[in-house]
Amino acid sequence: MASSIASTAWRPSTVLGIGEIKDGFKCIGKTKQKNPCENRIKKENRTRAKEILLSMSLTSPASNQFEDDLEELLDILLCWRHRKEMEQVAELMETWTRAIEEVVRRGGDEIMGEADDTISRLDADISDLMERRLRLVQGEERTQAGRERRGNGYPAPR
Ligand SMILES: [Zn+2]
Repeated sequence: MASSIASTAWRPSTVLGIGEIKDGFKCIGKTKQKNPCENRIKKENRTRAKEILLSMSLTSPASNQFEDDLEELLDILLCWRHRKEMEQVAELMETWTRAIEEVVRRGGDEIMGEADDTISRLDADISDLMERRLRLVQGEERTQAGRERRGNGYPAPR
């Protein structure tokens, strides 16, 4: 179920505040003085990050399946120093998770529309099943009643 939102509202690099990953892309961590880290991210990690972001963009933000992706992104988009600063890593993880939740909540119409469709399809299936079951039960009762009537001396059908 490749959703249509994937290609429109849902842009993981923007949502996560990473921006475009190009040559010279720098560590997303902050120095002790709260300045952006100046360490560059090596090419193989940039390439991998782009792959992850692409695959995320093809998955509905409502899927709730990004934990591994986010962890890997943190690992490769932080320099050797900052990826070891657990507080900073945890903070980014929290920010990202919230940002994705916000997309789901806000951009919701389409996403929610999709979910609602699924639910109403399920509803329809269930009520169809219940109806069929009800008809079956009623049918059984009629047959049984018929048998009893015949047994009780009512005229048998010709
Ligand atoms: Zn850094």
